[in-house]
Amino acid sequence: MSATEQYAVSGLLLRIDRTLCVGFGDCIAEAPEAFALDDEGIAVFTDPEAVGRARLIQAAEACPVDAIIVLDGAGRQVAP
Ligand code: SF4
Repeated sequence: MSATEQYAVSGLLLRIDRTLCVGFGDCIAEAPEAFALDDEGIAVFTDPEAVGRARLIQAAEACPVDAIIVLDGAGRQVAP
């Protein structure tokens, strides 16, 4: 697993910086379809397609260490 995971969905680019993630799981509480903790206790993508844009952005906003970054199609940062 690389340090940064990327996923393109709904015109957004999601990024998890796995070096920042501390595994609190707030993102999973917001969007349990999209994120999970791997066997190291670090967030990974599961099925972000199952979640709408608003809730993906909410999940990124919920991360206490800003490990999830959301960019729009033009590369502008939408969250956090
Ligand atoms: S909310 Fe942030 S720190 Fe917590 S599991 Fe998700 S990515 Fe990791």
